[in-house]
Amino acid sequence: MLGLMQDWPLRCHRIIDHAAMFHGRREIVSRSVEGPIHRTNYAAVRANALKVAQGLEAAGIHVGDRVATLGWNTWRHLEVWYGILGCGGVYHTVNPRLFPDQIAYIINHAEDRVLFTDLTFVPLLEKIADRLPTIERYIVLSDAAHMPDTSLKGALAYEDWIAGLDGDYAWKEVDERAAAGMCYTSGTTGNPKGVVYSHRSNVLHSMAALQADMLGLSSNDVVLPVVPMFHANGWSLAFGAPMIGAKCVMPGARMDGASIHELLESEGVTCTAAVPTVWLMLLQHLEETGGSLSTLKKVVIGGSACPRAMTQTFQDKYGVEVIHAWGMTEMSPLGTMCSLKPAYAGLAGEARLDIQEKQGHPPFTVEMKITDDDGNELPWDDKTFGRLKVRGPAIAASYFKGEGGEILDEDGYFDTNDVATIDAEGYMRITDRSKDVIKSGGEWISSIDLENLAVGHPDVAEAAVIGIAHPKWDERPLLVVVRKPGREVEGQAILDFMRGKVANWWMPDAVAFVDEIPHTATGKIQKTTLREQFSDYKFPGQ
Ligand code: AMP
Repeated sequence: MLGLMQDWPLRCHRIIDHAAMFHGRREIVSRSVEGPIHRTNYAAVRANALKVAQGLEAAGIHVGDRVATLGWNTWRHLEVWYGILGCGGVYHTVNPRLFPDQIAYIINHAEDRVLFTDLTFVPLLEKIADRLPTIERYIVLSDAAHMPDTSLKGALAYEDWIAGLDGDYAWKEVDERAAAGMCYTSGTTGNPKGVVYSHRSNVLHSMAALQADMLGLSSNDVVLPVVPMFHANGWSLAFGAPMIGAKCVMPGARMDGASIHELLESEGVTCTAAVPTVWLMLLQHLEETGGSLSTLKKVVIGGSACPRAMTQTFQDKYGVEVIHAWGMTEMSPLGTMCSLKPAYAGLAGEARLDIQEKQGHPPFTVEMKITDDDGNELPWDDKTFGRLKVRGPAIAASYFKGEGGEILDEDGYFDTNDVATIDAEGYMRITDRSKDVIKSGGEWISSIDLENLAVGHPDVAEAAVIGIAHPKWDERPLLVVVRKPGREVEGQAILDFMRGKVANWWMPDAVAFVDEIPHTATGKIQKTTLREQFSDYKFPGQ
């Protein structure tokens, strides 16, 4: 017997319909790429998204065709995002921080047909355009007054293009399992692989992400997604904010501490989200200027491990709650968030920070387990490390065009390539990427734990730990440090600071100072490059 409920396919464009109908005047405030602050609202974004859909269909975009964007977080990117999926197309957010060769690779691999670009990326595209045979037309996200003289094929100014359309269009009624969006993994090894989100997976994922123990947003919130829409499906905020009618503040191209602080204060932001490197810049700015955070209640930090010292500073000095989050492009991307369940809610001080250092527990829609290399499940005892595997309706079943082959185990779980522990309350803690874990004397050392500890030293700006070949122990940890500007701290002082806070045999064998630690296009420490940089390194006395 079937249930007797209506069939209401979970299509993403229903989200912007809902926002326009019930929260139509709620604002979207952007720092435009041209400079000035721009204000619009959900009703106007929907109206323009309809024009985008109409224009794309007139340009021959059919259901399932990929349309690329190279754009910062702005209202125009949001209009284009809904316009593409609204005509049955697939938004493909390209990360402009990738190397030009990788950008060309993924645009060709996705076979994108139209490309929307911000002004910032026109010179970059001009250099690779002759290697992008599938792109039929470029649309520059600006107006006629700012249009550059460009060699890009058929280049049009976005505002002129939509001004010629009336928006008399009905969203394409695609199957809820149809592709809606696409994002390539940042891939530190090999070519990036395409993750393809469906309308259904995006809707379910956004609802899960909004749960009170996850992002916990409401129509009274003002959200500033610093995390770019091109990073891991924009952490789903382009769906989540309109779904509940939160005011949305978009930072455009400027993500430095001063620019973000200005928006946080001037727009009354209550919740913001980004990777730790962004927050490092903001905290540094606040330290230099003596600024405060007068409206911010919650900062979501993920993409890399959030250092304990960062959580402590936000909470104790600025009165902002930190929510540590973990996820990945393949998971739409949310996997876990570290809100405090009853078992931990009463904790304070160091004990509370111990829990907040963990990546947290999953929402309904994410199942997880840890296993050994042979696939045997490991205990949730907060100590045993294992390969972290996940299953759910918004988690990739395979990559675009079957790259990488079969990616699920026999029970349908995806191996995240992260190594983690889980405690009795179901809180997961990432100890490493499987390829970054340091293997010493047959045991594993967590590089993330050591990095977190080192950045707690007041003179350390950033730290990375890598394994260096060792004749007796196989590998031993080397701590690589960037000092805070103007500080002269020596290696021994950092090691003394760390001693006693981790097992003795985990302690780094040496400290090396560098001016800069290399990062990937999504702000993670690039351990492969760092390992190459230190490939000839020998510990003192070796
Ligand atoms: P991406 O697909 O670019 O978002 O990268 C996903 C990977 O980033 C994960 O598999 C983790 O290795 C890492 N990651 C994301 N969030 C965290 C976190 N809170 N702590 C540690 N690693 C993280």
